[in-house]
Amino acid sequence: MSADPLLSVRNLKKHYPITKGILKKEVGRVKAVDGISFDVAPGETLGLVGESGCGKSTAATSLLRLEEPTDGQILFDGDDIVEHGDADLKAFRRRAQMMFQDPSSSFDPRMSVGESVAEPLAIHGMRDRARRRRIVEDLLERVGLSAAAYDRYPHEFSGGQKQRIALARALVLNPDLVVADEPVSALDVSIQAEIISLMRDLQTEFGLSIVFISHDLGVVREVCDRVAVMYLGEIVEVADTETLFSDPKHPYTKALLSSIPTPDPSRRNEGVELSGDVPSPSNPPSGCRFHTRCPAVIQPEAFDLEQAEWRHVLDLRLRVERGVDASDIREFLVAEGEAPTPEEVPDAAVARELRREFDVPQTLSDPNAETVLSDAISALVEGEHDEARRTLNDSFSSVCERDHPELESTSAGTSAACLRVDTERRIDPPPTS
Ligand code: ADP
Ligand code: MG
Repeated sequence: MSADPLLSVRNLKKHYPITKGILKKEVGRVKAVDGISFDVAPGETLGLVGESGCGKSTAATSLLRLEEPTDGQILFDGDDIVEHGDADLKAFRRRAQMMFQDPSSSFDPRMSVGESVAEPLAIHGMRDRARRRRIVEDLLERVGLSAAAYDRYPHEFSGGQKQRIALARALVLNPDLVVADEPVSALDVSIQAEIISLMRDLQTEFGLSIVFISHDLGVVREVCDRVAVMYLGEIVEVADTETLFSDPKHPYTKALLSSIPTPDPSRRNEGVELSGDVPSPSNPPSGCRFHTRCPAVIQPEAFDLEQAEWRHVLDLRLRVERGVDASDIREFLVAEGEAPTPEEVPDAAVARELRREFDVPQTLSDPNAETVLSDAISALVEGEHDEARRTLNDSFSSVCERDHPELESTSAGTSAACLRVDTERRIDPPPTS
């Protein structure tokens, strides 16, 4: 990046305490944002993308200090706004505005549209009513409404029109930065396109920097110059938009990309399936937070399993860690007519069903891995849960559970936090620029 960044976020964290009892004893923390860093250049649009709950909104409100960050620096034009007192914070708030998803709840229904849009001008000391009105009427026209909208009320406008009004209000103080949190997610697709194109036009006109938040990669592609991908409170990949779509490096980014609906039937089955649920940010997985779902999770050097096979074996192991009761499987097989009573279900049938549940082949392609797995499954079937767990843990653990990957430069000249990318980088260093 040539120009100095307008915004530099460094190791930003926002943790929410989980409390218990009347004395509100802290028993844990939701690590909603857990150490993210990124820059935004003047005039640039940076996308922040990821599944629901990964911390995008928390990142937005923390970086504008609408909520107090737990840790980190937020440099705006070189000043750390985390250190700001009230006066400096007010000055910062003139220059950095927020736009929200829900156009209906962003307006006071009793205030006219003009009054709502003019409110920031009044708060920041412009006392001349007629002048405020002139500025707002002009801005209403620039966002594609008419000056006459000034005296009307929010309920008279559609969702798309309300987002135009919200945009006018975000721009009324002539800010340098707008943080837009899912600004088009509540709108119909055709209206989304109109608002996106309006935002692009106004961005050029106003020379704005934008942090554009969306769970929808398709929308991000339309709007953003660069994209940061978030997973469970962390950034896992940062790339210019074109490269992110043509040469994604992080397995999570690849999975998100493959879930975008495509009209091209030949591409439909390229999809990488994500297994497992999104873990809780109050107890994120060790090592790489994505290892519980990653299709590319690294297998132990001792084995040579097919990648998908290994993923399923690891799923089985992680499930056994949380507790698997073979008697449940016996009950199930009785219901299926396998035997009259749980005791009479053959051990081999239980073992078979367990593998089937986890899509693990009845015989693994690597004989050494097969020996370990069948020992562990036998122990499990015999009710020796601890022994099964020990056997599985000793052999089937991944470096991805142990080592936390940092953002590193990739062979595509982008950044990704993945141990595979790290290995590739050391073998095949990225071009120096
Ligand atoms: P996103 O915008 O990506 O959907 P959020 O930033 O809203 O994600 O939420 C991130 C995580 O933080 C979620 O697990 C959410 O439940 C949690 N969270 C958000 N706000 C609070 C809060 N005020 N108190 C406790 N947890 C919260
Ligand atoms: Mg959100």
